[in-house]
Amino acid sequence: MRPFTYERVTDARAAVAAASRPGAKFISGGTNLLDLMKLEIERPAHLVDISRLPLGTIEELPDGGVRIGAQTANSDVAADARVRTAYPVLSEALVAGAPGQLRNMASVGGNLLQRTRCPYFYYTDSGCNKRDPGSGCDAIGGFNRTHAILGASDSCIATHPSDMAVAMTALEARIELLDADGSVRTVAIGDFYRLPGDTPHIETILRPGEMITGVVLPPPPPGGQLYRKIRDRASYEFALVSVAVVVSTDAGTGAGTGADRGTAADGDTVADARVAFGGVAHKPWRSLAAEDSLRERPATMATYRAAAEAAMRDAVGQGGNDFKIELARRTLCRTLDEAARASRAG
Ligand code: SF4
Repeated sequence: MRPFTYERVTDARAAVAAASRPGAKFISGGTNLLDLMKLEIERPAHLVDISRLPLGTIEELPDGGVRIGAQTANSDVAADARVRTAYPVLSEALVAGAPGQLRNMASVGGNLLQRTRCPYFYYTDSGCNKRDPGSGCDAIGGFNRTHAILGASDSCIATHPSDMAVAMTALEARIELLDADGSVRTVAIGDFYRLPGDTPHIETILRPGEMITGVVLPPPPPGGQLYRKIRDRASYEFALVSVAVVVSTDAGTGAGTGADRGTAADGDTVADARVAFGGVAHKPWRSLAAEDSLRERPATMATYRAAAEAAMRDAVGQGGNDFKIELARRTLCRTLDEAARASRAG
């Protein structure tokens, strides 16, 4: 590990001022950053500890939404009664995201900014454009079982590792940012992350020294919410494919037939739907194509299959991860069916 200086700040504006120093980086729970520093993938000259900032609360908003401070522990968000009741997809994603010890340490802001778990990114003898721009991408043509099937580029095929961010994408969260000059802006989570293009080392629209202060969730959308994560082992593992869905149904106007008979929402129509995938792209992947194909269609497996086809229409495998395309289709169908049941149950 390289030598660095450290300071702990207790005021948000002092934090962004401190982060304007050359080579400065924020640290909170350190659950990803410390590993990266030990491997000398991250080499900050100065660490600004923001874990004690007064940004650790969850507040209800007048419009019925909630604001989650960026320093709130993942475990506190997952366990919050308001989140569990109104945004169960978020609570489920957080619980699926990491074991308790990590959830206790990891902050919401840090979760959003965690780096990919592409093994070549961590193996410093390999070519990796994200770690060392211009050095190539050894995952292309290499071991790419966990890599992207959507939105990838010739420079990088990595996936974003966060489960929480996938649920927040389905919930249309907005991210609050404080800039070094003291200005505040909010950005839709769908605009916060970047696809790799030819600059995979630039992962978000954050400006130098800008800090995440909170996440605003709009009032909960109607309908059933569900997060499903498919991974190689039941714990301490990142998603091969995950999906966050929100589905609302209207009763009795659709018609399931034949093989579709017996789905829980048989006879219902999908009124509205949100679909976001994890483990498939450089960012949480909202599928507007899937959502469009669901709206006002019978809440049947045939409709879910059509949505899954639409969602994966542009998917491209890299060899080792070809299985993910069908896995994503099947995961979406099953999750939509269960969310529609939940919507029907009210
Ligand atoms: Fe690096 Fe991205 Fe290629 Fe992985 S996929 S080796 S992170 S450039």
